Amino acid sequence: MSQKRDYYEVLGVAKNASEADIKKAYRKLALQYHPDKNPDDKQAEEKFKEAAEAYEVLSNAEKRSRYDQFGHAGVGGAGFSGGGMNMDDIFSQFGDIFGSAFGGSFGGSFGGSRGGSRTVRGTNLRVKMKLTLEEIADGVKKKIKVNKLVNADGVTYKTCTSCNGSGRVTRVTQTFLGAMQTQSACNVCHGAGKMIDKKPADADGQGLKRQEEVIEIDIPAGVEDGMQLSVTGKGNAGPFNGVPGDLIVVIEEIPHPELRRDAENIHYEAFVNIVDAILGETIEIPTIHGKAKIKVDPGTQSGKMLRLRGKGLPVLQGYGQGDLLVHINVWTPTKVSKEEREILEKLRDSENFKPNPDGNAKGFFQRVKDMFQ
Ligand SMILES: [Zn+2]
Repeated sequence: MSQKRDYYEVLGVAKNASEADIKKAYRKLALQYHPDKNPDDKQAEEKFKEAAEAYEVLSNAEKRSRYDQFGHAGVGGAGFSGGGMNMDDIFSQFGDIFGSAFGGSFGGSFGGSRGGSRTVRGTNLRVKMKLTLEEIADGVKKKIKVNKLVNADGVTYKTCTSCNGSGRVTRVTQTFLGAMQTQSACNVCHGAGKMIDKKPADADGQGLKRQEEVIEIDIPAGVEDGMQLSVTGKGNAGPFNGVPGDLIVVIEEIPHPELRRDAENIHYEAFVNIVDAILGETIEIPTIHGKAKIKVDPGTQSGKMLRLRGKGLPVLQGYGQGDLLVHINVWTPTKVSKEEREILEKLRDSENFKPNPDGNAKGFFQRVKDMFQ
């Protein structure tokens, strides 16, 4: 602690300096020694930290008064780790010190991620993937070939000459408040702070080239048409050895020839022979996993629905399984032979063939009539 410089001396202000003077002095030093302006300069970094620590104490009335009474010993400990502030703490103060003029660039993206240039992220790659209902039901591993941007071999980099490696350009504008500095990403290197030195002929201006790659994708069971799955880091490479983008897989459902999907349920329209509907019969129906047999009871009406529990699709990232809903349609023959006609004519006036929607009970209108009598 003893070798520490006096905080007033560090900021270059008098012992009785006002809050505003202290803030002003710190702003000046912070800008001068900002690590983004002094890349790889240890001395500047130390000065930057020293100024931040001095400001941390002198900008706080209580700490300042303790410091005035007891010196460094009065403010040691709390807030300081091993006598210095860490960079994240320093950057996090910047929001209130520099205000909106610096807003995003200083307080935001500079904070936390210490060091001048930022990592450039590669773009996302989008692919469509067609899936059958069977694949959706079970989940599937698919290999797809994508044509993506990769870092070309043999690319070498040098410091960006436009921003000197900081990744940012500072612009000074004159306003009625005086000179205001604003920072924005360097438009030559897009913030990477680096530019291409040497590159092979097949690489583009960012040192990337297109290359086919086979990627295996794990599709979970229960996905739906239009859903997008994101595979982290499998998109286009980031320029300047940055972070790759994501691979976005857009799901397309291939319609099933017989089964219709509704969320986790599957519907099937079964057409039943009129005689089977009368006498009862076991019929075969398609399911996602092969054929199944279901029993049609004697006297089954058209429009009846049979539910096969658990024969639908799994719920995505959830528990449970949908059902297979079989809708019974009694098929009315559209043409009949002479012999068939003779048989049917005999049945026409049979008592059992008279429609009776209410079964053996009284019809609806009769029941309503009964209610009011
Ligand atoms: Zn640059």
